[in-house]
Amino acid sequence: MAASTAGVTTADLIPLQLESGLAVPSNVILDTVTYAGVVNAACHGTGWTEGTVSDYVVAMTIVDADSVARVFSKDTCDADTFAAVQCNLGTWGVIYDITLQLRPVANMAVENHFRPQGDFFATSTDDTVAVEKKLARLRHVIEGSTGTELFWMPFNRYYQTVAAGDAWTPAADDLWLRVFHNTTEEVTHGAPTVRAALTGMQRWQMLLSDFIHRNILSVHPMLVPAFYSLGFHTIKLFPQRMVERVPHAIHYQAHIDAFKVVSFEVAVPLTTTDSWAAFSAMWTTVTSRVAAEHADGRCPLTLAMEARFVRSSSALLAPSYAPDEVRPDVHHAYVEILSSASTPDWPAFRDAVAAEWLAVPGARIHWSKQFPTGATAGVAASFGGNVERFKATRAAAGVDAPNMFVNNWLAGALAMPEAIRATGAVRRDGAPVALARMQAERGVASAAAWRRATTLFAWVVAVLVLVAALAGRR
Ligand SMILES: Cc1cc2nc3c(=O)[nH]c(=O)nc-3n(C[C@H](O)[C@H](O)[C@H](O)COP(=O)(O)OP(=O)(O)OC[C@H]3O[C@@H](n4cnc5c(N)ncnc54)[C@H](O)[C@@H]3O)c2cc1C
Repeated sequence: MAASTAGVTTADLIPLQLESGLAVPSNVILDTVTYAGVVNAACHGTGWTEGTVSDYVVAMTIVDADSVARVFSKDTCDADTFAAVQCNLGTWGVIYDITLQLRPVANMAVENHFRPQGDFFATSTDDTVAVEKKLARLRHVIEGSTGTELFWMPFNRYYQTVAAGDAWTPAADDLWLRVFHNTTEEVTHGAPTVRAALTGMQRWQMLLSDFIHRNILSVHPMLVPAFYSLGFHTIKLFPQRMVERVPHAIHYQAHIDAFKVVSFEVAVPLTTTDSWAAFSAMWTTVTSRVAAEHADGRCPLTLAMEARFVRSSSALLAPSYAPDEVRPDVHHAYVEILSSASTPDWPAFRDAVAAEWLAVPGARIHWSKQFPTGATAGVAASFGGNVERFKATRAAAGVDAPNMFVNNWLAGALAMPEAIRATGAVRRDGAPVALARMQAERGVASAAAWRRATTLFAWVVAVLVLVAALAGRR
């Protein structure tokens, strides 16, 4: 067990895990976030037999609206109360401390694989049998690994394909497959100097990516293919198989928050062959949409589509929740689209993808990512009766009778009209609106000047990338 105060970050807890040989077996990639933040939004990593971080919580001390410190423990609470408190979005009060159940875990072997997208997902020429074979191949990898992370960075073989005389389609791109296996092998890259060098490279990778996206790609979206035709392959500069201590394998990308991104993510159940097919269709919906947008001269997906796979959660408000009686057999895919925060066509793209993804049976939005326009209203329904159970246990616990800890957005998402405060809406919404207006006014003048200044540079980059791509044909 590890008891941490609410403000302990995911990085703060790493030394304890390394010294004790115990670990939080699955966690977010970030190492800068707090356990209170991660637990309270049911954040997750990847792990076929692991839940969300909220599922490792065994007790919490929460200071309620009457300033009383209340202890909620798995041993003493009834099941519904604990399932509510595990992920409570801050609505039960201020978390003072959290006790997590850690597990003794072996080391983790992490492998990078780069496989053509068409190996796992349908292309326009596939018949039903071919599609089924591809899905079976993907399931075999996911179900046979301790954890899997799947990325598609769009256009990563764009120039290579064009240079070979073929037309680019998303199927021509490579997928980046990170596969984790528990192992008793010795750590391969554990020396502090090696770790410091890798972390330093990652810092520059993130800062440079953020700079290029903000200052070049957002102004010239059609350069995104050039960027990823080259940039994607820098991943191959890092070791392709590493045996690591578990916390290092999980928090593998340092300084990830130096690259400002926007994202939208949903969890969908993976229970039947049909639900796997629905997951696969969610993926190809996005690849086709990106191809269509590209044909129209737009590039709204400037970073990646990502999928991670978990066992279901016991937390009532976790997007990957499943009831006790079926939980061991129900897994979920968390599927996410991510773009640079400066991507001009992102909002419309996100909303269009959301409309398709949220139509998948059992789909629920991940709390800690963006909510598409108008999506808040459908949240309570997507959780079935869980939101009502959550509110009933919260009321019975008597932690916040005046709804001090429910802001207007949460009141909308949790269907709590009684908690909406008119004054709060004015105060909270006014400042961002004024700020956005000011930024827009300044932005119009500077964007035109910047566009002129970067056009020449952009062409130089494009030519260099083309030369590099021709040199690196597969
Ligand atoms: C680059 C990047 C990568 C990310 N990767 C992942 C990922 O791999 N997986 C994933 O699931 N998410 C991921 N996220 C989302 C991130 O983990 C969540 O947004 C997380 O909640 C942030 O934690 P925080 O400490 O900043 O908490 P905050 O954003 O400050 O808070 C999150 C929630 O917890 C509540 N809260 C925080 N502290 C307390 C407290 N002491 N008492 C009561 N309530 C509290 C807040 O009210 C809020 O509801 C990522 C985000 C970024 C920017």
